[in-house]
Amino acid sequence: MMLRKAECLVTLGRLQEASQAISDLEGSFTARPTLATPQSQVLQKSLSRLKMKLQEKENLIETPPAVLSTACEEDMGLRERSEQIPSASSSVRLCTDPLKGRYLVATEDILPGQLLVREDAFVSVLNPGELPPLHHGLESEWDTRVTNGDLYCHRCLKRTLATVPCGGCSYAKYCSQECLQQAWHLYHSIECSVGGLLLTLGVFCHVALRSTLLARFEESGQVLKKLCGKIGNKDICLPESKNPMKKFPYDLGGESGENDKSIETPIPGCDTNGKYENNYNAVFNLLPHTENHSPEHKFVCALSVSALCKQLEESSMVEESSLQAPTTGLKSSKLEAAETPALCAELDIWGVAMLRHMLQLQCNAQAITTIQQTGSEERIVTDSRQVRLATAVFPVTSLLNHSCSPNTSVTFISTVACVRASQKIGKGQEILHCYGPHESRMAVAKRQQKLRSQYFFDCTCPACQNEKHRIGTGPRWEGFCCNRCRTPLQGSNVLSCGNTPCMESVRRDHLDSRLQDLQQQIGMAQKLLRKGQLEQAVPLLLGCQREAERFLCEEHTVMGEVEDNLAQAYAAAGDWQKSAAHLQKSLRVVELRHGPSSIEMGHELFKLAQVFFNGFAITEALSTIQKAEKVLLIHCGPWDDEIQELQKMKSCLLDLSPIPGGPSM
Ligand SMILES: [Zn+2]
Ligand SMILES: [Zn+2]
Ligand SMILES: [Zn+2]
Ligand SMILES: [Zn+2]
Repeated sequence: MMLRKAECLVTLGRLQEASQAISDLEGSFTARPTLATPQSQVLQKSLSRLKMKLQEKENLIETPPAVLSTACEEDMGLRERSEQIPSASSSVRLCTDPLKGRYLVATEDILPGQLLVREDAFVSVLNPGELPPLHHGLESEWDTRVTNGDLYCHRCLKRTLATVPCGGCSYAKYCSQECLQQAWHLYHSIECSVGGLLLTLGVFCHVALRSTLLARFEESGQVLKKLCGKIGNKDICLPESKNPMKKFPYDLGGESGENDKSIETPIPGCDTNGKYENNYNAVFNLLPHTENHSPEHKFVCALSVSALCKQLEESSMVEESSLQAPTTGLKSSKLEAAETPALCAELDIWGVAMLRHMLQLQCNAQAITTIQQTGSEERIVTDSRQVRLATAVFPVTSLLNHSCSPNTSVTFISTVACVRASQKIGKGQEILHCYGPHESRMAVAKRQQKLRSQYFFDCTCPACQNEKHRIGTGPRWEGFCCNRCRTPLQGSNVLSCGNTPCMESVRRDHLDSRLQDLQQQIGMAQKLLRKGQLEQAVPLLLGCQREAERFLCEEHTVMGEVEDNLAQAYAAAGDWQKSAAHLQKSLRVVELRHGPSSIEMGHELFKLAQVFFNGFAITEALSTIQKAEKVLLIHCGPWDDEIQELQKMKSCLLDLSPIPGGPSM
């Protein structure tokens, strides 16, 4: 009976009581050593098994993730903070160089998975209106689907089912009364009345406005005001000044003004003590690249900001005090208004600051992404995709330079960015992250073009240099192979087999049209899958698989896509073995393309773990969970959603595994 009690407590998660019950039980064993019957041996065995389970569960718990967004850095593994950059680890240092600008280097050897930067966004704005893809075949004309704006808190980005909407606009919605009040106090009291215009002008304009609203609460805001006041009305608005932004002082720390270089801090964005913090000063010093933007872009930015300023001015006149919006019914708004610094008094100054932020954002905006499950309820193998949840500015993360094969991974928990080493980084090496064009996702020419047009530089990372040398072959995941001997084909217009005795050659346009047909077929199969018509979808997909194997390289994206769809089809049909077999094939494609310890591999292993879990294949599930955890931990850390889900699966499987000979009726 005591063992049963302990078992129940473990299952309920009341671990302290459980461990008390276990030690009581052990006590009663030692008190009566005469119980050496086979029955009591079974009992002993069950007891030790239960103790293992308890320990396993205790390890899982530690700190609940809800506490985390506000938790201090010790929990997140930033063991020692850098004195120079408080939101970075002491393993990195900020350097500057006339060619590279500002960048971070390792001050010691860094291991994979080590947390290097953990910073809350200085500013973040939820991306509005992106509809999640259709499921359930809900394709009615009246579109009642929800957007991210309905699903996530507009302040902390927490996923929320029952939101608290702002009483003034009902567009801004929050997870709680606290978030609503904080947002009102910090920025929404002003944004509320211009919400429609902000949606029209776009998220960059919104980020620019919110940055300046947040700056009002900082010391540097005062500095900015002072500096702008000095030059603002005189210089900036003069028509003959061709490049007004250049006159905007970079150094906010120096009080002397007149470009006195001797008083300037050595690294822009740092305070007078050389400290680089996540504050408005750092944000203000991010490069606007004014000379690189097209005149059209600059014109649109300036027009947007002036439209916004005009409307802010009007709405502040209507409401007398821009900070009191009686319509919102916020009880505390009067109280807060008293201590909130005004914006509209120096609107022309803040307008200039906003324009600077608009220009900075093209290179410095960071998308806060999350993994959204897109599979419908009845599809058990979830299909996930990365969605851009918000646009934010992270002044420390912005210091990282780009590489097409970076040595870090960036993940997000609510509005906090975590940068982790994705591989070993030696002392003195530069810390690099990828601005988007990654070597395993884009061919070199396309990457270079994208980096040049959006970020204004020519990438010379090792990946780019290596790839340039083997022009003509193209990326492996777009490669064709020989019909006869499966060797990769080479060439531009006419492709020939790399295997000399084979002599096979094909025209590229022939292969391209074959690939197009194949992709069309896969699309049709996916439609059938969504409608649940498995009897038609499966044979169609099997046909695609055979066709793909005839002319595509084994790491070709489409190969993986076919296998992935087959895995989904079989999972929907309840055939776990076949589903797992196809998922393992798709896993191989992912491994060849992205590498065995890539984040993509982690997501795919997560899917496989789900299949095994739902198929009650306990041993396979446990070993896959372990593999997935290992990979995901490096990139995402312990509080990632997928890791949490894996741990829940693990604990559930441990509960499922029977206690041999345990007390049964
Ligand atoms: Zn919230
Ligand atoms: Zn509102
Ligand atoms: Zn590159
Ligand atoms: Zn051949």
